[in-house]
Amino acid sequence: MADIIDGKAFAEGLRARVATVAADFEAKAGRKAGLAVVLVGEDPASQVYVRNKGKQTLACGMASFEHKLPADTSEADLLALVDRLNADPAVDGILVQLPLPAHMNEQKVIATINPDKDVDGFHVVNVGRLATGLPGYVPCTPLGCVMLLKDKLGSLSGLDAVVIGRSNIVGKPMAQLLIAESCTVTVAHSRTKDLPAAVRRADIVVAAVGRPEMVKGDWLKPGATVIDVGINRVPAAEEGKTRLVGDVDFASASEVAGAITPVPGGVGPMTIAVLLRNTIVAAHRAADLAFDE
Ligand code: NDP
Repeated sequence: MADIIDGKAFAEGLRARVATVAADFEAKAGRKAGLAVVLVGEDPASQVYVRNKGKQTLACGMASFEHKLPADTSEADLLALVDRLNADPAVDGILVQLPLPAHMNEQKVIATINPDKDVDGFHVVNVGRLATGLPGYVPCTPLGCVMLLKDKLGSLSGLDAVVIGRSNIVGKPMAQLLIAESCTVTVAHSRTKDLPAAVRRADIVVAAVGRPEMVKGDWLKPGATVIDVGINRVPAAEEGKTRLVGDVDFASASEVAGAITPVPGGVGPMTIAVLLRNTIVAAHRAADLAFDE
């Protein structure tokens, strides 16, 4: 049986470290580090994410600024709010919760965020910084995956990795991070010809597809480390109930893999913890203070 990679416990440890650093920052800078989260509309999943982000920001001893706007807010009004947050010295990090309502241009909104406050790492300037190895902000979910991998495996240098999925939020930055760790990286997607063969070559498998339990145990190289980013809600055995599953078939994969993240309790809890880590990094940069990882 594979070792279970406990993302929940790792995320708790990371948040505790962020809290310590945040207290130290407050003592040195004379103010709290601050994260502003903007939610437009009433998407229920987004409301839950924003609530959790706010709670965990406060629990880490940072200031949380929540801006909830009605779904019919104009794009101009949202851009004006982002501009105000860009100019506010109490705000170190800005996160605009996606997806935005259909009448808004997400790329335009992200492009308006000051790249030095873009703690989600979605601004094209931060995408370029990641690709060229410059310090910037890296999207939280893939950065969390790399933290779990390095915690489990130590150096990733020379390992064969496959990333299944090429989204801007997960797949592409994940591939960039693994290249930076000196892995040999294959990026697979819906047009990949023989996905099981590509997965079978890999020491590290990162699944970010959005298809419930797609990656099977017999696709894996024995002993591979499997990071399951997928969060899929499927019908449960009990009538009318649902349950969460990943993109990896945990039952069969855990018999072949060396280590695997469960869903829930694997990658999921890492995302907010890394967001808070990115925010405290941003605060240190804004205040011109050294940040010790
Ligand atoms: P996207 O839908 O943006 O991207 C999915 C990717 O999977 C695409 O690149 C697509 O290929 C590829 N794909 C789809 N079907 C197949 C297939 N049959 N074989 C191979 N590749 C395929 O999803 P995201 O990257 O945003 O998210 C992926 C998963 O991760 C989702 O389950 C999401 O819920 C979860 N997630 C979890 C987070 C967390 O905090 N743990 C955060 C973000 C996402 P193509 O480009 O060719 O269409």
